[in-house]
Amino acid sequence: MTRCGTVVLAGRPNVGKSTLLNALLGQHLAIVSPKPQSTRLPVVGLLTRGDTQFIFTDSPGLLEPEYRLHEAMRAAALRAIADAEVIAYLHPLAEFPAPPLAQVGKLDRPPSAPIVIVYTKADLVPASTNLPQPPPSSTAVVSALTGAGLDALLDALRAHVPAGPFHYDPDEMATQPMRFFAAEFVREAAFELLHEELPYAVAVEIDEFREGASPVYIRAVVYVERDSQKGIVIGEAGRTIKALGQAARAKIEALLGGSVYLELHAKVLPKWRRHEPSLKRLGYAR
Ligand code: GDP
Ligand code: MG
Repeated sequence: MTRCGTVVLAGRPNVGKSTLLNALLGQHLAIVSPKPQSTRLPVVGLLTRGDTQFIFTDSPGLLEPEYRLHEAMRAAALRAIADAEVIAYLHPLAEFPAPPLAQVGKLDRPPSAPIVIVYTKADLVPASTNLPQPPPSSTAVVSALTGAGLDALLDALRAHVPAGPFHYDPDEMATQPMRFFAAEFVREAAFELLHEELPYAVAVEIDEFREGASPVYIRAVVYVERDSQKGIVIGEAGRTIKALGQAARAKIEALLGGSVYLELHAKVLPKWRRHEPSLKRLGYAR
């Protein structure tokens, strides 16, 4: 009998949820940044190992909303937690022990799905300060950086995944369309190349995605909130937006497995993070 189920990766911002998803899949699917709150929408990653199909959902970090976009991010995270059959609750090992998820996430009530506590970034902690031995069941210690503990984590999760047929072809890894990842990778490049708060003002919309073409032709708009930000995104003689395009193109090509022509345009969408219709149009709010 096979097993198949949804597993949400949940926790505070910056605890390593997206990095762990990528490490489990062996593919860069979810965007990662040293800056918190880079994940705005859930990213689904499929992993079929032996008799078990894991439907992972990387969720936005549980945070205190400061503006409308944050509220939408928190709502998406809460939905992903409520919908999951298993909850992987991530917390940095350096901050052992993890407080209850319901407390960290200010949840109305404890979630009903079983919780596996996943202590992350174990490589940052000297081995001698590890967990009490033996560690409590439903606890895993991992480093997405070194790969340590990933197999044991899958074993711990598998025990909670319900019996049932696979929902997806075992070779599949993503469920979201390539244009979603294209927009995400432009955003990831923005987190890498733009400074301070500017990446948070960036949203990306794919205008055109011609998959039949060779190279694949993608035209994307990089939205910011103000004219001054647009100037910075474009940069002197267009240098910054060109660098953004080059970085994003390499990421898209790695996932697509083929060459891509990426055209970026910067535009202003005033105060989009606080503007409900803009959030809906960008796919962030329902
Ligand atoms: P998220 O906000 O929870 O999705 O966190 P990210 O996956 O974006 O990671 C936040 C930061 O922690 C990034 O700078 C990652 O490179 C770093 N990070 C994630 N996992 C590990 C790990 O296992 N070891 C170390 N040293 N850093 C990690
Ligand atoms: Mg993330």
